[in-house]
Amino acid sequence: MQYSEKVMDHFMNPRNSGVIENPDGYGKVGSPSCGDVMEIFLKIEDDIIKDVKFRTFGCASAIATSSISTEMILEKNVSEALELTNKAVAEALDGLPPVKMHCSVLAEEAIKAAIEDYMSKK
Ligand SMILES: [Zn+2]
Repeated sequence: MQYSEKVMDHFMNPRNSGVIENPDGYGKVGSPSCGDVMEIFLKIEDDIIKDVKFRTFGCASAIATSSISTEMILEKNVSEALELTNKAVAEALDGLPPVKMHCSVLAEEAIKAAIEDYMSKK
C-alpha cells in the first residue's frame, strides 16, 4: 500500500485532533468494512465554523482524511462546508489508494452529520 507524503504527514501529525465540550454540532459515523469510527465536533458562530476538532479511531487514511478535512472547513460557512466532497479531500491529500477511498467518505459524512446536528438545534 502506497500512501502519499501528505497522507503520512497528516497521519503522523494530525491537525485539530481532540474534542470540543458542548459543541454546536456533533457527528459520528462508522465504516463497517474498515472498523473506522470518526467523530466531528464543531463550534459555530453566525453559520461560520470557528473551531473544529475530530476524534478518529481507524486506519491511516481515516485519520489523514479527518485531519485535512478539518483544515478545509475551518472558518468556512456551513453551506460551503456541506459541499466538501470526499473527492476534494482525497485530492488535497494527493490521492488515496483506491481500496482506501471509502475511508475518505467517512470524513465527508461526519462533517455533514455534524452540520445537520447544528441545523436541527437552531
Ligand atoms: Zn479505513
